[in-house]
Amino acid sequence: MPGSVAAVALTVQKFGGTSVADSERIRAVADHVARARRSGDDVVVVVSAMGKTTDSLIRLAEDVSSVRPGRELDMLLTTGERVSCALVCMALAELGVAAASFTGSQAGILTDTDHTKAKILEIRPDRVRQALAEGVVPVVAGFQGVSTARDVTTLGRGGSDTTAVALAAALGADHCEIYTDVSGVFSADPRLVPSARRLRKISFEEMLEIAATGGKVLALRSVEYARNHHVTIHVRSSFTWEPGTIVTAEDPMLEQAVVSAVTSDISEVKLTVAGVPDRPGVAAALFRGLAERNVNVDMIVQNTSLDGSATDISFTVPKSDLAVAIELTEELAPDLGAKSVLVDETVAQVSIIGAGMKTHPGVTATMFEVLAKEEINIEMISTSPIRLSCVIEAAAADRAVRALHSAFNLDGEP
Ligand code: ASP
Ligand code: MG
Repeated sequence: MPGSVAAVALTVQKFGGTSVADSERIRAVADHVARARRSGDDVVVVVSAMGKTTDSLIRLAEDVSSVRPGRELDMLLTTGERVSCALVCMALAELGVAAASFTGSQAGILTDTDHTKAKILEIRPDRVRQALAEGVVPVVAGFQGVSTARDVTTLGRGGSDTTAVALAAALGADHCEIYTDVSGVFSADPRLVPSARRLRKISFEEMLEIAATGGKVLALRSVEYARNHHVTIHVRSSFTWEPGTIVTAEDPMLEQAVVSAVTSDISEVKLTVAGVPDRPGVAAALFRGLAERNVNVDMIVQNTSLDGSATDISFTVPKSDLAVAIELTEELAPDLGAKSVLVDETVAQVSIIGAGMKTHPGVTATMFEVLAKEEINIEMISTSPIRLSCVIEAAAADRAVRALHSAFNLDGEP
C-alpha cells in the first residue's frame, strides 16, 4: 500500500462447501474474515459453492441431456461459486467490511481449454491486488478460470482448493488457510476410525499420497500446486476454528513417523485381460489405446508366463472411465490375442503412507501380515517410496483400515 510503513500480512482464506452451506454459515464466515481484517491483516477470500450445489447442478445437467458439452457444463457449474462469493460479500457489507466479489476470470485465473478439468496456466491477479490496495476484501469464486479461448472453465472437482493455493502463490501470501468441516488431516477417516488422530504437520509428499489414495480433505492438484510453488497450507475447521494441520515441505531434521496415515478408496475398478500371448508389444498396444481414450490407468499387474505362452494383465481405472475402458479393451482383445476381458467392480485400494517408510524396512511385511490375520486376500500391490497400497475386495476395506491403523500404532494420541 503506498505510504504504509508496517508490513501487513496477507492471508488467503478458503472456505469449502460445508463452510458456506447456508445463510448462517455464510454469516459465520464473514464474521471470521472481519475479525482477521480488524486484526490488521489483508485477507483474500476464496469460496466453494454452497453445500452440495455442484452435485445438484451435475444431476440437473444429467436429467436434461446425455450429451453435456464440457463448455456448457462449465458455464453451469461455475454459477455455484458465483452465488457464494456474492453472498459472502453481502454478509461482509452488513458487518461494515468493504468487499468485492470476483469470478475466476476477473481474478485473472487463466487456464487451458480442457473443460471440466482445466489446468491453470497463469495468474494475473491485478484486480485482486487493486482491491487489496484500496482496502477492499476480494472474495474470489473458486474452482474456475477463463481459458485461452476466452471460455469459462472449471478446474475439476474440489478445484477451489487449487484456486486458493494458486492465488496464495501468485500474491506471495504469508498464509494459506483452507477451512473445511473437519479439524485437519487425520491418520484415517475419523468416521471410519473414531480413534484416528489429527496430524499436526505433514509433508507435501505424504499429503499428495493421501489425496491420491482416497483422503478427501484436500484436492490432489492443490497439493501438487502447493508443493511446486512452496505454499504452506493450514487445513482447519470453520466450525471450531481451532488450529489444524500444517502441510509443508519435509523437514529432514525431524524424526518421521514410519506410517502417518491409512486410507482407502473404492473409486476404482479392476479389469483383467486374460490369456494374452506373452510377447513384446502387447502391453504397449493396450495401454497406448487406453491413453488415447484418456483413460487414467492406476495400478498394473502382469506376470510372465511360466511356459512362455499366455499371461494375464490386470489394471485398475476410475469407475468413471470404466465404460470407455471396457469398450476399448474388448475392441483390442482379438488383435492382442486375448481370450477374455474380466471386470471386477467390487474392489478397494487400501494404503499406508509415511515418510519414515523410506528408512524402515519391514513395513511391507507388517502390512501383509495384518491383512493375512484378517484373512483378507491381496489382489494387487503397488508401492512408492512413502506409500504401500493393496487392492482387496471392497467389502473388507473398512476392516482392513481399522486393523492397519491399530497395527501401526496410530490409535489415540502419539
Ligand atoms: N464446488 C466444486 C466441487 O464441489 C469445487 C470445490 O468445492 O472445490 O467440486
Ligand atoms: Mg472441497
